[in-house]
This record gives sequence, C-alpha cells and structure tokens, in this order.
Amino acid sequence: MPPASSSWAIRTVKLRKHYRGGQGIQQVSLQVPRGSIYGFLGPNGAGKTTTIRLLLGLLQPEYGSIELLGQSLQARPNVLAKVGALVEAPSLYPHLSGRRNLEITQRLRGVARQRVADVLDITRLAAAADRRVGEYSLGMRQRLGIALALLGSPELLILDEPTNGLDPAGIADLRQMLHKFAHDSGITILVSSHLLAEVEQIATHVGILHGGELRFQGSIDELRRHSTSRVRLLCSPPEQAATWLNQNGFSCATGTTDSWLTIAAESRQVPRLIQHLFDAGVTVQDLALEQSSLETMFFELTGDPTTAKEVA
Ligand code: ATP
Repeated sequence: MPPASSSWAIRTVKLRKHYRGGQGIQQVSLQVPRGSIYGFLGPNGAGKTTTIRLLLGLLQPEYGSIELLGQSLQARPNVLAKVGALVEAPSLYPHLSGRRNLEITQRLRGVARQRVADVLDITRLAAAADRRVGEYSLGMRQRLGIALALLGSPELLILDEPTNGLDPAGIADLRQMLHKFAHDSGITILVSSHLLAEVEQIATHVGILHGGELRFQGSIDELRRHSTSRVRLLCSPPEQAATWLNQNGFSCATGTTDSWLTIAAESRQVPRLIQHLFDAGVTVQDLALEQSSLETMFFELTGDPTTAKEVA
C-alpha cells in the first residue's frame, strides 16, 4: 500500500514542460519518500535540471502538479522556505571568507547566527572558514554552496549534480558528508547525477530519467530486483545464430574477443531458444546465464530498450 501523500517529501503528478526546441520533460510523477536520499539519475539532457527547476518554482509546468512536504507548491509557494537547494554553481563572493559569505545570507534571511557555525561543521569547512573563497578548491566551493542551502534548516535539500567537475577525492568527500548529514539529521535529500556509481552507495531510492521520461523509480533494492538476466551463447555457426536471433527480436551482441553471443533473456526461455536455434540449423555448444549489475541496468534503462521478445 503506498504511503499517504504527506509521507512524501516530493510528489509530482504527470509533470510536463516543453521547450521550443522540442525536449523537456513529460509525465514525470516523482515520489520521494520523507527521510530518503533520492538519487535522481539520467544522462546529460535527460531533464533532471528542468525537473529540479520546476520543483523550486523557477519554471512553471505546462501540466501536472507539485507537492513539497505535503503542500501544493502552486497553492502555497512559501513551502519553499523549508527547502534548501543548490542548482548549478553557487554564487559566492570570492574576495570574502567562507564565513563572511555565510553571514551575509544568514542576516538577509534572518537566521540565527549560530547556524553559520553549525553549517560550517556539517560541511566540514570549519578549518577553512576564514580563508578567502577565491582560494577554495571546487569541492570546497560546492560544500560552501551546500552550507548556504542548509542555513535555513531545511526539511528538504535538493542538489543538482553537486559533484560535477570534482575529482574522485572531492566526489568521495561530498558523498561521505551527505551520507553522514542525512543519517544524523533525517532530512530528505534529492541529489541528481548522471552517474549511478556516484549515488549508489548513499541513495536509498532512485528515479531514472531518460529523454524527459521517468524510466524507473523505487528503492535501490527494487532496482536490484528489477534487474534483467542475460544469456551468453556459444553457437556454431555463430553468424547464422546471430541472424536468427536478430530476426526474432533478440538484440544480439557479439563478443569483441570471442565468438560468444549475448542476448537479454531469462533462464526459462533457454530450452525453447536452443530448440529454435537447432531447427534453424544452429548448434548451441555452450551457454552461461548472467544477472546484470546495477550499472548495466542503468545503461539499459537509459539506452535504447533492448527487450527480447518471447520465444514463440
Ligand atoms: P544536464 O546534466 O546536461 O544539464 P539534464 O538532465 O539536467 O542534463 P536538462 O538541462 O533538464 O537536462 O535538459 C533537458 C532537455 O531540455 C535537453 O534536451 C536540453 O537541451 C533541453 N533544454 C533545457 N533547457 C532548455 C532551454 N532553456 N531552452 C531549450 N531547451 C532546453
């Protein structure tokens, strides 16, 4: 049974936004559980930033509704006061220290002064707080951007590709920081990325967007259960086998270093598949069943769908 709507930190229904050039997003129904770390995934151009801009009221949807923390964004835009966000590079004053940058926003937003020290601690910037931001690494600037987003003690934090441009150490730092912070605070975090590996270790849930449409949404465990299997076949003659497989709806890949053929199929299909190949004059000499990894699945969901037809 799905949770009641107030159990969602973000809930959108059939969100649509089109650009004049064509692409945008359509039918995007996000369901982000409260307290989750939601990895919002998709290749470049999939529509992640567009969706995030809609969630933050920076763009207006052509169709669909948005609910944040149980409140309609359209009816109650002030719900955004409970949302912290980092979209693209943060705007910072490079000639001022990290602390000063935070203090300016703290005063503007009427937030308690103590929050500056708190967010410096959370983002592990306390030791560098009095250095000029111009001297910060990209990773430190991103963390300062997150510190700014956290000043108002949000219940929901939305980060658009925060690891973009960071080196592996910077990515690991940021990931660790977010993980600890989510664990300690219990707030909901939506973090977008074009790499599953970047969020896989910390996300409890994922939404996978491709071509403006949500291809998968659920917990990481559900994503694992959703994984498809592949069958590898060693056939003689291999060319004849590949022709038959392709003609019968099995998108068939040939090994680069060997003559094994790989297709997406389930184990229950194998006996009939062997029989059909035999009838087509092909001998199956060997076969192996492989369960696809999470990474492979991500590519399958964000690439051209290669669904194998049932063997008739
Ligand atoms: P990236 O990581 O590259 O930013 P993304 O998943 O965030 O990708 P979006 O930036 O939301 O994707 O873009 C989705 C699609 O909409 C792309 O095809 C993009 O070219 C197009 N698009 C985005 N903004 C505009 C705009 N202002 N005008 C026209 N087309 C746009």
